[in-house]
Amino acid sequence: MASKEVEFSFSSPPLSSTRWWCRDTVAVVTGANKGIGFALVKRFAELGLTVVLTARDVERGNKAAESLREQGLPNVHFSPLDVSKPASIQTFVSWLDTTFGGLDILVNNAAVSFNEIDENSVEYAETVIKTNFYGAKLLTESLLPLFRFSTSISRILNISSRLGSMNKVRDLNIKATLQNERLSEEQIEEVVNLFLQSVKNGTWQSEGWPEIWTDYSVSKLALNAYSRVLAKRFQGSRLSINCFCPGFTQTSMTRGQGTHTPDEAAEL
Ligand code: NDP
Repeated sequence: MASKEVEFSFSSPPLSSTRWWCRDTVAVVTGANKGIGFALVKRFAELGLTVVLTARDVERGNKAAESLREQGLPNVHFSPLDVSKPASIQTFVSWLDTTFGGLDILVNNAAVSFNEIDENSVEYAETVIKTNFYGAKLLTESLLPLFRFSTSISRILNISSRLGSMNKVRDLNIKATLQNERLSEEQIEEVVNLFLQSVKNGTWQSEGWPEIWTDYSVSKLALNAYSRVLAKRFQGSRLSINCFCPGFTQTSMTRGQGTHTPDEAAEL
């Protein structure tokens, strides 16, 4: 496994040189019934980890897990998980605790965008923020007590996007807030609320937010910022937190467009 694009990396050992995982290493991947999440589950399972494929739709998730088991990967397990629903997160966390007693790797992959490639509507901004930012955050916070902080180093990988890079923000105050070394989780949520308010006011286009897929970009901007804050919180511990941009990948989100397949994106 070699890193394709890691935006933040804190004390992770090189992924390619040493085999730091084993069959007892438990990896959870969200939104994994298709696309990059599915490819990541497959890759982890091929490498010999125990993988929990999660999906918001039971039928689609079961089918996806079954298809991998049929391909000779018995170490793939399915559990329902809708990251936008706190009750679903709670149920999942209990299930994981009872079934595996903990986890080593969490991949926050589930996300939505409602725009065609060349569109920029913010009609579904609340859902986008709720799923892509708050979903990943709430799941992470709920799973933190279950991390084993194993010697092989527990990891959280947040699947993000270049669209959420700081250089996409044109408002200097927002940029300064997010770049502040002492950035807090509350401040990130304030920025997100500011954006949702500007959507409600109809002023979002003139306020220096990212210009492409604005709601999605803000959700990833917030996810990146949260990852930084979290990484700082766990600095010096055995938990590493990284963001990864898979690049322009051929999935439902891009309506099949892209420069490479999900399997290629998952060749971390
Ligand atoms: P897909 O649309 O193919 O897959 C998204 C997955 O997320 C689906 O399984 C979907 O489930 C799931 N999902 C959506 N909402 C929820 C929810 N509330 N709870 C649980 N699961 C949910 O997209 P990609 O594979 O392309 O995206 C994967 C990740 O990669 C995302 O984080 C995306 O932002 C990121 N990314 C993608 C790029 C690309 O070019 N494709 C570029 C940069 C980043 P369902 O099938 O039920 O809708």
